[in-house]
Amino acid sequence: MIPKLESYNRFVGKKVTKEIRHNAETLQGKHLVHINATPSGGGVAEILNSLVFLMNDVGIDTGWRVLIGSHSFFSLTKKFHNSLQGKKVKLTENRRKIYMEYTKKNSMINHISKHDFVVIHDPQPLGMISHFPNRKKWIWRCHIDISNPHTDTFDFILPFVRQYDCAVVSSNRFKINSLEKPQFIIPPSIDPLAAKNKQISENLANKVLSKHGIDVDKPILSQVARFDPWKGHLGVIKMFKKIKEKMDCQLIFMGDMASDDPQGPILYHRIRQITDKYPDIHTITQRNDLLVNALQKKSAIVFQNSVKEGFGLTVAEAMWKKTPVLGTDVGGIPLQILDGQTGYILKSVSDGVAKSLKILEDNSHRNELGSNAYEHVRKNFLITRHLNDYINMLNTLNSS
Ligand code: UDP
Repeated sequence: MIPKLESYNRFVGKKVTKEIRHNAETLQGKHLVHINATPSGGGVAEILNSLVFLMNDVGIDTGWRVLIGSHSFFSLTKKFHNSLQGKKVKLTENRRKIYMEYTKKNSMINHISKHDFVVIHDPQPLGMISHFPNRKKWIWRCHIDISNPHTDTFDFILPFVRQYDCAVVSSNRFKINSLEKPQFIIPPSIDPLAAKNKQISENLANKVLSKHGIDVDKPILSQVARFDPWKGHLGVIKMFKKIKEKMDCQLIFMGDMASDDPQGPILYHRIRQITDKYPDIHTITQRNDLLVNALQKKSAIVFQNSVKEGFGLTVAEAMWKKTPVLGTDVGGIPLQILDGQTGYILKSVSDGVAKSLKILEDNSHRNELGSNAYEHVRKNFLITRHLNDYINMLNTLNSS
């Protein structure tokens, strides 16, 4: 289904969608293009899949282009990603050369100097800006946690970032202190009408899960996340084993592989070596939005045990289904989980075990957390708010 703004009236009210159209009047017919690294897998692609269509719907001529790149380019940009999140990475001459070569190739095949706005997502396409001396407004949209980057990589990317008209980050925590350019904060959002988030019946959810071999009569604990070392899968296994000593339950890891993330299969196989010994831990690698929907809906508890996180869309997705989430205090997770009200912030393995048992043993507490969680997402993290934030930012840039 192609999203139309007014279809969201039922979640946010007519007044909000009317105001969004009104705010977009100044941007009618403007040309904008988003550029990122992958068409599917991960939060950026997830957001663009709705945002791009809604931007067109409000009259901004919006395109979406995806980078080309070799395996060595994407394994290098994944290293950039890791190192901007704090991991030490050696930036050799050869690595810089690979980055610059693909930056140039992608610049040659994208003719974007005449676009009114170019939105570059994350570090992979960041350097393209240096090939467009005659350009209009360029925006760097950084989705990752850059609060504590490794210096070599940060020093390498900063001269590129400085060429942009502004930067956009997901949370106040990620503002770049040394950047003398405007910075906007736009937390990500979920699309309540997407297959992954739309309301489905209990019956359908049970059917979908059963079809994938999941016992719907046993409490489900789950984590939906790419197989990425930052997502803390091993810590979830530790918590699960302890919870299972007190109460019969099962753990489901659902994680697809993004085409720009060569680390995925390696971690997946490592996790399988551990989990294959436990019949109550299941791993699913299929890309399937309806299955994500059913799993988040039917889970007694969802974990997001990230070590670092840009935002953590999976948190809002589960909360939207009234499922309590236990997540770490990183990235955008604490914006979503108000500790003790809409879920719980994980402080340690033993804390996670105690909180999980509290929820599993008290259904009315679970329901209360779930209702608060839904309302918090409805007010703050739906795609309509995100669209409006973009429009306001474009209007500010337009008038500067
Ligand atoms: N996702 C999915 N299937 C999976 C794993 C993840 O569809 O097996 C989706 C998930 O539902 C969410 C996105 O990928 O929409 C992940 O976004 P998030 O911000 O949580 O993390 P990122 O992958 O961007 O670090």
